[in-house]
Amino acid sequence: MRLDTGIAHHDKTLALLADPSPKRWQAVASYTFALGWSGEHGTDGFIPETALPFVHGTKTTAALLVVYGFWTPAPGGWRIRNYATRQELAVITAAKKEAQRVAAAKANCIRWHGKDCGCWTKVIDE
Ligand SMILES: [Zn+2]
Repeated sequence: MRLDTGIAHHDKTLALLADPSPKRWQAVASYTFALGWSGEHGTDGFIPETALPFVHGTKTTAALLVVYGFWTPAPGGWRIRNYATRQELAVITAAKKEAQRVAAAKANCIRWHGKDCGCWTKVIDE
């Protein structure tokens, strides 16, 4: 999971922290927790309403995040704005893992069976 290195002084962060709501710090915390939660669950930035307790958020903190442009409402929950441009999408993570798995099988095959074996190509279709 990537966190914007400038998050502490972003305009929208400063605007949220200037909000009079006593829940503003909880909103900031739940934003960062939600980034982690989405990455862990491969939801590509979608935070379902049912996940709010797991990111230590509430309807109030979610509303604050919408007002200050961190989240946008979506059917059944919210989307983390710009998630796809800042985070690695689940499909890309899966493709990288698959490529690593195949490369490891190929390397082991060549090492243990020799260059002419080719048994590693069987793992591609598994
Ligand atoms: Zn082999």
